[in-house]
Amino acid sequence: MPEPTCAKCGTAMELGEAREYLGQELCEDCFLDALTITKTCDPWAVHTAKSLKDLPGGQTLTPLQQRLYDLVKERGELPMLEAAAQLGLTEDELRREFAPLRHMEMLRGCKKENLVYLTLF
Ligand SMILES: [Zn+2]
Repeated sequence: MPEPTCAKCGTAMELGEAREYLGQELCEDCFLDALTITKTCDPWAVHTAKSLKDLPGGQTLTPLQQRLYDLVKERGELPMLEAAAQLGLTEDELRREFAPLRHMEMLRGCKKENLVYLTLF
C-alpha cells in the first residue's frame, strides 16, 4: 500500500497520521487549517494575518494571542488542550486564536503521541 499523502498539500504522511476531513485524507497541519477555517466561518483571521504580515516591523496581536504566544514561548511547546486550559478557553476558541498566529508563522501545531502540541514556528 502506498504511503498516504495529504489531499491538500501533498505531504507524505506516516500511516495513521492522516486525519480524515470531509472524506479527504489530510496531514495534521491542513486538518487544523480546515477545522479553524470551517468552524469559525470567519475569514477575518486569515485576512488580518495576511494584512498584518505586510505591515513593516511586526504584528499586532490581540492580548489573548499575545498571551498564547508568550505561553508557548515560555514552555517551548505544550499540548493544545493544556494551552486552552491555561488561558481559560475551549479548544475551539483556542484554535481561533491560534489560526492567525499560525498564518503569521509565529506558532505551529505538531502532533506527538496523539496529542496536538503548540510550538514556536
Ligand atoms: Zn497537508
